[in-house]
Formats: sequence, C-alpha cells, structure tokens
Amino acid sequence: MAKKQFKAESKRLLDLMINSIYTHKEIFLRELISNASDAIDKLYYHSLSDGSIGLGRDDFYIRIETDKDNGILKISDNGCGMNKDELENNLGVIAKSGSLNFKQEMEKTDDIDIIGQFGVGFYSAFMVSDDVTVVSKKFDEDQAYKWHSTGADGYTVEECEKDGHGTVITLKLKEDTEDEHYSDYLDEYTLERLVKKYSDYIKYPIKMDVTRSKKKDDDSGEFEQYTEETVLNSMVPLWKKNKNEVTDEEYNEFYKSYFSDYNDPLKVINTQAEGAATYNALLFIPSKAPYNFYNRDYEKGLKLYSNGVLIMDCCKDLISDYFGFVKGLVDSQDLSLNISREMLQQDRQLKLIASRLEKKIKSELLSMLRNDREKYEQFYEQYGLQLKYGLYSGYGSTTELLSDLIMFKSSFEDKMTTLEEYVSRMKEDQKYIYYACGETPEQIKRLPKAEGIIDKGYEILYLTQDVDEFTVKIMYKYGEKEFRSIAAEDVETESEENEQFKEKVENSKNMLEFMKESLEGEVSEVKISSTLKNHPVCLTTKGELSLEMEKVLNSMPNDKSVKAQRVLEINSDHPIFEKLTGLYSDDKDKLKKYATLLYDQALLIEGLTIKDPVEFSQLICELI
Ligand code: ADP
Repeated sequence: MAKKQFKAESKRLLDLMINSIYTHKEIFLRELISNASDAIDKLYYHSLSDGSIGLGRDDFYIRIETDKDNGILKISDNGCGMNKDELENNLGVIAKSGSLNFKQEMEKTDDIDIIGQFGVGFYSAFMVSDDVTVVSKKFDEDQAYKWHSTGADGYTVEECEKDGHGTVITLKLKEDTEDEHYSDYLDEYTLERLVKKYSDYIKYPIKMDVTRSKKKDDDSGEFEQYTEETVLNSMVPLWKKNKNEVTDEEYNEFYKSYFSDYNDPLKVINTQAEGAATYNALLFIPSKAPYNFYNRDYEKGLKLYSNGVLIMDCCKDLISDYFGFVKGLVDSQDLSLNISREMLQQDRQLKLIASRLEKKIKSELLSMLRNDREKYEQFYEQYGLQLKYGLYSGYGSTTELLSDLIMFKSSFEDKMTTLEEYVSRMKEDQKYIYYACGETPEQIKRLPKAEGIIDKGYEILYLTQDVDEFTVKIMYKYGEKEFRSIAAEDVETESEENEQFKEKVENSKNMLEFMKESLEGEVSEVKISSTLKNHPVCLTTKGELSLEMEKVLNSMPNDKSVKAQRVLEINSDHPIFEKLTGLYSDDKDKLKKYATLLYDQALLIEGLTIKDPVEFSQLICELI
C-alpha cells in the first residue's frame, strides 16, 4: 500500500517526538486520554439533543490495556470515532486548534523542551512508540478504518473490522534504553499513578484490569492472583463538588496527597466564579511554611486544569509573590488545553482569574483575622515576613492590598496589633503612628526616646525584623496617618518651641558645636533635647536612613558601607548637662573626653558597636 506523506510541519513535529529527549514523555498518556474524553464528549453532547442515539453518560468509558509479552499499550474509547477522511485530516496534519502557537514556536527553535510547554496531542504518542496504529469507527457508520504509521516517513489508511463505534490506539512501545524504561508504561502501578496524576478528574471512567491477590478458598492459606476491572480515576473533581458535600477530612487528605505535605492545611479556600471568568479554585494555606520558602529556589504556583485536565503543574502567573505560600489549583473551561506558557502570561482570562483569586485570598485572611485571631497569628508567624516583603517590594502598589494584614508588637500590650487597631487607639492630639526598631520589644522599651513617648500616652510599634522599617517607610502612611520613627531627630517639636528651651539652645550653641568637632565627623550634629526623660543621651538620625536600616544594609553582601547621619542628643534636664556647660568654660580637654564617652554610651544603648572599647573603659576609669 502506498504511503501518504505527512504535511511538512507535521513531519517536523514527528521528528521532534520520535527523537525526543524530553523528560516528561509520560504526558503522552494524558494527551491520549484527553482526546478520548473529547471524543466521548462530542458523542455524549450529541446524544443529549438526539434521543434516538440511545446512549447515556454511564455507557461511556475509556479503557487501558497492556500486552506485556509484545510490549503493547492500548487506549480505547467508545466516543464519536473517525471515518477515513477524518483520520487523514486529523492525524495527518497538526490539528488546527491551539497548536498554531506550537507551529510558530517550532519555526523559531529546535529546543525540545517546547514540547512540554504545549499540549501536542496525538503526536506525543511517538515519544514512546515508533509504531502507532489507530483503528476507528465513526458513530453511525458501518466501515471501520485503520491508520498506521511507523514515523516520519508517512502513514497508511485502510479498511478494517471493528466492533462498535469509537477509537483504539495501539502503541508498540520503544525498546528500553539505559535512560528510558518504556516498558514501565506496561506496569499497572505506573499507569494507575499517571492516570491519578494527570487525568483523575476526567468525567468518564478510565478502566483497566488490575491484578489483585486473595486467599485461596481452600484452607491452604496460600494466595492466588486474579484480575479485576478497576476504574482508575475518581471522575468528580473535589473542587467541583458542592462545598457542603465535602468533609474537612476529605479536603485535608486531598491536600496532603496532592501537595506532599504531612500536615493538614491551616486553611482551605474553595471558590467558584462564573461570568467574565469561569473557574473553580481550591486553595490551601499550608500550616507550616516549606523549609525553603524564604529561599530563592522556592517555586510558587498553582496547578492549572482546563476542564478537569491538568495543563500545568505549577502556573506561576496565577499567584503573586506575596501570596506565594498558597498552594492549590484552578480549573477553568476558558483556557485551551493547548495554550503555551508564553501565551498564558498574556492571557486575559488568566490575569482576570489571578486578580480575583488575590482578592479572595485577602478577604479570607481578613475574615480569619477578625474571627479567628489565634489562627491568624499562627498564619502570621509563618508568612508575615512574606507580606511585609510584598509591601516593601511593591513600592506602594501593594499597600492597599496588604497593609491591613500586617501586624507588629507594640507598647500597648504584649500582643500583636494590626495598624487598624493601633489607629483606633490613637490619642486625639496624636499626629503620627510611632515606631521604634530594635532586636526585641524589651530592648526597644528601654530606648531613651521610647520612655518619653510612652509617657505621653502614645503607643509605639515595635519593629524587630530587618524588613520592618523598610516596609513602613515604603508605606509612608496608613490611612491618613504618617509613620514616624521615634529615632528621627524631628520626632517631637512642640516642647522645643517653648521659650525656656529656646534660650537653652541658644546658650549652649557653642558648646554643642565644640562637642561635635571633638567627635571628629562621627556625628553630623550634637543638640539638646527635652524629650529624654531619665537618660542623659541618645542617638537619633537625620534624613531617610535610620540606624536600623544602616545595620541591615551593612549586613548584606556586596553593599557598599552606608552610614546614617547621626545626631547625638543630650538631655538638657539631666545633671550631666550642667556638668558639660561647666566644663566648656573651665576644662575643654575634659569636655572632649566626656563627648567621646557620651557618644559611646549612646551607641551602646542603640545596640551598636563602639569604635574603641579600650579607650572607652580607660576614659571611664579616669573620670570616676
Ligand atoms: P487536538 O486534540 O488538540 O485537536 P490532536 O493531535 O490530539 O489535537 O488530535 C487531532 C484530532 O484528532 C482531534 O482534534 C480529534 O478530532 C481527532 N482525534 C484524536 N483522538 C481521537 C479519538 N480518540 N477519537 C476521535 N477523534 C480523535
């Protein structure tokens, strides 16, 4: 029989498939099963409108059969089938549908990996087989046909016998090589696993004879093997079930097996939408962040299904980095099975789904925050850092979405507080949301400036993580209220305006200038402050860069050393102030030493290192 030639681009694709070094060859099964399911869909759809067809949903099936001795795998269905023309047109050229993108990509590249990025359909059979036979009988026609090809050199079509309508695809598997065990695809366990992995939710039963063993009927205690027809897929997606039909237990088990976690999820979100975007999504927040969550190698993403068929294991575009901890899946009928990764990125539908999910996740988190505080705090302990990174790296664009979700400890009580709660407690005359940075709340509480502010009845947020201050600086405001560091030089102005204080400032000007000179560039200013309570000195900063930020930035690799503009503030109500004033007129040398000592003290209070500890201790001894 004369061989017919494949169309040029089909030949190219076949060449790619046959010589494929692509590692995910197993997807061929998904492709063939999904074609079978489509073929059944067509006939089933038809039967819904035409009662004379006499077929109900339960009459349809897909079957997998193996012949280990001959290395043969068969996938059959009782769907619509194909006649001679259809066999030629459908299997002789790359199908019209979504594969157009594939054609374009193929022209640009020789990269075998593009296969994984497209649903390449029927031809994927050639990744595992070099001898493919398709026997098909179209529903309502009498003649069956056999399509056969051993690869890129062409194919034949001839008449043949077949019982009943539908299609049987017979693959003679390639010989095993060192790297590829094609014979695995004859293994019941492997086939079952692949069906579960990729095609679990195909609407029709995928049947296979599975070998089982049972105790013999006699009393010998021996086992015998028998085969039993088994449906490999569960058919109904959990996420398409009515929420109140699914138990927590079922959700938890599903999560654990699909997302390889030992722990139950902290939160399950099951959401459906219709209209501009139609989808079902089943999302989970793991109760523990994965060990590599805060590393670069962590991969965020959701599984993506097109009408029950898995098209992508980890679709990054569905979820933003700050919600990257969310696991789960989205099933949408709006997405083509053959869509490429590149196309997906620009897909309007996908973007719409992603933005809906984002809103949904936020609202679920907010309701957890309001209704189950304990759980939310558990959540926040795992992922709060990520939300703060999200605020920081969003440069303002994420403030609206995320600012309600973050929490800090504060001086109000020994608990986490949200910004909303902080603001609700603000004093009438309080202009700013005050914050202070440090290693621990205990350490911050003891900062010289903190005392003064708390004394006034103002609350201070305790920022204890590196990213915290960067985050509030980027946010700048929460609602109408600006954030203000208690370590900012201008944190308080009102008392500095009173007359008495002004006079003091005026009178001590020269002395302060002298102290600044004697610190030789360490500080950009020495000034007096009236907000310090018990402490003689403290260190504040001018400008955008705070001492905490200086610490963080300098601890990062490759960063040039940065320096905040330091201001040494002296408590003008403290006895030390008079002492200093005295020294300025009597003993400038000693004042110099005092300046160094006070500066070192201020550094220590801030948790910074002093330049010369030996000098510091000598000075103390000398002055005691
Ligand atoms: P796609 O499924 O994207 O259209 P394929 O290469 O997988 O591309 O299949 C090409 C065409 O062959 C299908 O569109 C369908 O018309 C037909 N086809 C494939 N498998 C079957 C089947 N099992 N039963 C009936 N038709 C089939």
